Amino acid sequence: MSTLPTKAYEEIVNLASKSAVSLVRFIFCDTSSIIRGKATKVERLRDRLESGIGLVKGTMAMNMLDQTQFGTGLSATGEIRLVPDPDTWTVLPYCDRSAAMICDLVELDHKPWVMCPRTLLKRQIASAKEMGLSFQVSFEPEFMLGNWVDGRFVFIDDSRCFSTDGMNRASKFINRFADCLERQNIEVEQYYPEYGPGQHELSIRHAEALRACDRHIYYRETLRGVAAEQNIEAFLAPKPFADKIGNGCHLHVSVWDAYGERNLLWSDSGLSDFGRYFVAGMLAHLKGIVALTCASVNSYRRLKPNSWSSAYTCWGFENREAAIRIPSVYWGQEMATTNIELKCVDSSSNPYLALAAVIAAGIDGVKRQLELPSQVSVNPSTLSEEEMEHSKVERLPQSLQEALNELQKDQLLMNMLGEFGPVYIGVKSSECGAFAAADDEFELSHHRSIF
Ligand code: GLU
Ligand code: MG
Repeated sequence: MSTLPTKAYEEIVNLASKSAVSLVRFIFCDTSSIIRGKATKVERLRDRLESGIGLVKGTMAMNMLDQTQFGTGLSATGEIRLVPDPDTWTVLPYCDRSAAMICDLVELDHKPWVMCPRTLLKRQIASAKEMGLSFQVSFEPEFMLGNWVDGRFVFIDDSRCFSTDGMNRASKFINRFADCLERQNIEVEQYYPEYGPGQHELSIRHAEALRACDRHIYYRETLRGVAAEQNIEAFLAPKPFADKIGNGCHLHVSVWDAYGERNLLWSDSGLSDFGRYFVAGMLAHLKGIVALTCASVNSYRRLKPNSWSSAYTCWGFENREAAIRIPSVYWGQEMATTNIELKCVDSSSNPYLALAAVIAAGIDGVKRQLELPSQVSVNPSTLSEEEMEHSKVERLPQSLQEALNELQKDQLLMNMLGEFGPVYIGVKSSECGAFAAADDEFELSHHRSIF
């Protein structure tokens, strides 16, 4: 079930010496979506590739304030290994003499650890493969740029959405960011200044499911790395400022046959029956899914009506207020470009868990041939009660705690998470408690730059 490394360890060691790297980071994305890791000196890399680097199990019980939740059963005892996937090797262009690899969390007996989010996704991909399915995926993050001046945040621009003036003002950062991504073989698709002050969006090319999550991790790393290099603040948090627009991280998914030749979402007449079942499955589980895709207390400031972030369980063609948007296809590339966009996703989610949940839910819809409710072509917040009932439209959870309660009730998602489910709920609930006990600024400041 694990993807076998296609690059031999020797090749990695060669790459490291050729690029004059001194430290190699073994990184992973934790329960609260913090990217953590340990680095090995390059001289010890060969051994570390073989043995991994040790990590205390309690790390996965830490919340985003670094408070370890011992109630989860994970503690200071017990050790796992960070075992890198050689296919994720990258030299970090924004950091002197450093490289990184993304790791799985592996038990000392070499078995995958049940608390490893990346392994949980691999399991979903493997069972989908048994059904003859594969996925093309991309995460589409928005972020804000600026600097603190005398305690006040000054945005890099205050220009209009899509404006060329915004492009000019942010160009030094954006050009360097795009270059650094390309140097890590992450192809840039599009870029534009977004709606709010200092808000920008740069999208990258889709990839196979696991690789798309790995790319999103490197995207986040690179954004923060370039920001540190240029002495700028880059915020990926869902809602860095209470009175400004939120940062989404919409998730685009298409489902293909096992060979990646035929997009199963597509039919001559639009969304295929398969596609309709898949979307119906996502909708049926959406209230639980958001506990994994909008994974922080801060997320729920963003998920409000009239902010293009989605606030209701509904779908629609090109409806930017619907949780699931079916984007229009590109001329001449109808089959290849048919995809599903999930809007209730942000960068505080662990991408492996977010995507695993979406795949599990979509496949559940296909297996049960769930009927897709009628599409919503207006702003769902304007629907009457009867109309909401007719299209099965419900308000999404309005707090992380509410979403966690929905997740706990969702047997399919809890089965997908297995033993990790209660740990996730324990860690995330502790964040609800910690932030409820403090003021708004404590919550905002602890989320802004952490992802
Ligand atoms: N900023 C919006 C969000 O929070 C998305 C705007 C858009 O790209 O449609 O999701
Ligand atoms: Mg956008």
